[in-house]
Amino acid sequence: MSLVVKNIMEDMVERKLDAMMPQLDVCNCEICRTDILCYALNRLKPKYVATSQGELLSKIDSLSSTFDIAIITQISAAAQVVKEFPRHN
Ligand SMILES: [Zn+2]
Repeated sequence: MSLVVKNIMEDMVERKLDAMMPQLDVCNCEICRTDILCYALNRLKPKYVATSQGELLSKIDSLSSTFDIAIITQISAAAQVVKEFPRHN
């Protein structure tokens, strides 16, 4: 079994952003989405796990409730910033 080292914070933020997108009232284009991800990830601590590819999803599931509030807070803040200062017109 081969293990990979992975920052699952990236996956958790991405999943949460997908779920929150409809109620964020922010532009849904690739640029804005990526900006929100980047902003949120820069303000959250990375969470590295050593896991096999097969266990990755259950790791994310079991840990995401622990980080839910922090992730939601940062995504909301990021959406505000991107809404105010979109990188495009
Ligand atoms: Zn946009």
